[in-house]
Amino acid sequence: METVPLTPFKVVIDGIKEAGGDAFKFCYQCGTCDTACPWNRVRKFFIRRMVHQAQFGVVPFESEDLWLCASCGNCVQRCPRGVEIIDLMRAMRRIMVPDGIVPASIPNLRGVMTSIASVGNPLRQEKDRAEWAEGQSVKPFTEGTENLYFPCCYPSYDPRLKKVATATATLLNRAGVDFGILGSKENCCGESVRKVGNEDLFKRLARENIKTFIENGVKKILASSPHCYHTFKNEYSEFKVNFEVLHITQYLSQLVNEGRLKLTKEYKKRVTYHDPCYLGRHNGIFDEPREVLKKIPGLELVEMADTREDSLCCGMGGGRIWMETAKGERFSDLRLQQAIGVGAEVLVTSCPYCIVQFEDSRLTLKDSEAIQIKDVTEIIQEVI
Ligand code: SF4
Ligand code: SF4
Repeated sequence: METVPLTPFKVVIDGIKEAGGDAFKFCYQCGTCDTACPWNRVRKFFIRRMVHQAQFGVVPFESEDLWLCASCGNCVQRCPRGVEIIDLMRAMRRIMVPDGIVPASIPNLRGVMTSIASVGNPLRQEKDRAEWAEGQSVKPFTEGTENLYFPCCYPSYDPRLKKVATATATLLNRAGVDFGILGSKENCCGESVRKVGNEDLFKRLARENIKTFIENGVKKILASSPHCYHTFKNEYSEFKVNFEVLHITQYLSQLVNEGRLKLTKEYKKRVTYHDPCYLGRHNGIFDEPREVLKKIPGLELVEMADTREDSLCCGMGGGRIWMETAKGERFSDLRLQQAIGVGAEVLVTSCPYCIVQFEDSRLTLKDSEAIQIKDVTEIIQEVI
């Protein structure tokens, strides 16, 4: 691996500090992070070596390793020294991205950044972001509307994930919730943009979204994606704003408990729930999705190995959704096998990124009908 010593050790350290991490918690080199990282289930990945180098101002410019991190947080939660490994990876990516120093194996990244910068989404879609809602009884958000529903780029445009946005709208309408959407007035939240090191673009997206929210009188946001949820709740606050933010599973749990959504039909299937990293490990939301699922008549909820805090990442965070993952190295393939291993007929989750990846993995199975992939909202839609 070719490495380039940087005199500006300070550049890395400043990057980490700016990213919110404590750069001075120096690594013990204990290797706990390597054991925790899902990459080491599919290939060799020495986090501790990179951490050690970074803390002495060396950035592995030519190495693909820096781009592997899916920001799942499993290493961070176990590190006995409290090293902010995700922030450190992000700080190193940040040094390279503005200069276009990205390995040739991730050619897609520059195009994605251009797409987000020009049309506000990574899917190169110029059409109306509200098109998914046509025929759905979804009104534009106006001053005084109680809730902004923020579906995320993928449910706005991706044919599979539009089903999640429409299921959500159906549930909110059924419960009599006052909500609206901002459609083309909103942009990508910028979560993964920041994780790949494009801090300037992240800040621009955040400022534009915040301006739109304020101008339209948004106070409360319901997010489909844990990545949007995390960003609005934990990162937009850096811009001195404070919106009330709920992930849709939290809100649905409230609606069911208040009797506004009645789960009346039977769903006679064995189901297992996958904790998305940005909902579970990063934000501690483990119970609400399970509570709702347990209230569905006939549904049998079983747990996989690597559940809750120990959830096995699908592999799509940290910008990995925009990078190729070689066959045989996808964590999602392992996760699907875990789900099938506990006899689940349905793998349910609550993150658009996870669904994209699990659907891809499902197609590689000998019998792709052996298991279904669903969002929590899609199951609830079937039982109301
Ligand atoms: S777990 Fe923490 S202290 Fe141990 S090697 Fe990894 S970064 Fe260093
Ligand atoms: S955050 Fe997850 S993917 Fe990234 S280095 Fe840590 S364990 Fe590995």
